[in-house]
Amino acid sequence: MRSGFTLVEVLVVVGVIAALAAILFPVFSSARESARKAQCLSHLRQVSQAFLLYAQDADESFPYRITDYHHWGGAGIGESWPPQIIPPWTAQVEPYFVNRSLLACPSTRRDWSWPLWAGRWGALNPGGPWLAYCGYRGYGSAIGFPHWDCFTSFGYNEAISNGLDETHLLARFKAPSQFVLLGDSEVAWFTPWGRGEIWGLTPSGVVQRLAFSEKFPPPMETDPEASKETRHGGGSQIAFCDGHVRWEIWFRIRRWSYGGPWRFHPEDDAF
Ligand SMILES: [Zn+2]
Repeated sequence: MRSGFTLVEVLVVVGVIAALAAILFPVFSSARESARKAQCLSHLRQVSQAFLLYAQDADESFPYRITDYHHWGGAGIGESWPPQIIPPWTAQVEPYFVNRSLLACPSTRRDWSWPLWAGRWGALNPGGPWLAYCGYRGYGSAIGFPHWDCFTSFGYNEAISNGLDETHLLARFKAPSQFVLLGDSEVAWFTPWGRGEIWGLTPSGVVQRLAFSEKFPPPMETDPEASKETRHGGGSQIAFCDGHVRWEIWFRIRRWSYGGPWRFHPEDDAF
């Protein structure tokens, strides 16, 4: 009787284990990602409900704030000087949800360097927090309101926050269930204009900050690897003005005016 295993037997066993691991690890990691995706949907739903509750208490208006998108950064200070100090949207809707952990998507891999950078920028410019709107982590402390400092991985539609054509008013929406309010986003707001610009739309009208929320500058939409720069397996969670949330694949996060299924801008909502 021999004892122990031959080298061939050991190699076969090791090979089988390696093959099983190779098959199962992607299954485990995709199961973990689907759990995070579901958790993100739940967070986003609660945050969008907070927007609707806010609107009920504010004469049917979503949080409003002119950001003067002509300024570099899309986050200036409106028409007044000295600038108006308006709380960021996170602070405006905060009374309507349980806690700030809801403002984070569990899947993001991004380090939120924009807000830190913007906060520094604001601090360096005593004349006014030019980039106030994106300074969600550092903005508050830069201007003496540290309780406004806040991390979020969701973005608010800049067309609504700017009240373009009074779109911040609930009564102005023709199709609130098709108009995108919030979503997984690269920064704390997303900009549904600027075709061909890295901060705006792709040439075909995809809203890049929502679609490619894990990368700035975003990939070319013709890049076969583009879907790797998305947050949830090729797409993002998006919330609509009636409070419902859905996952959408990146190339369908496209403006109605450019042949897409969803509305992002008053021009999309004219039909
Ligand atoms: Zn998410």
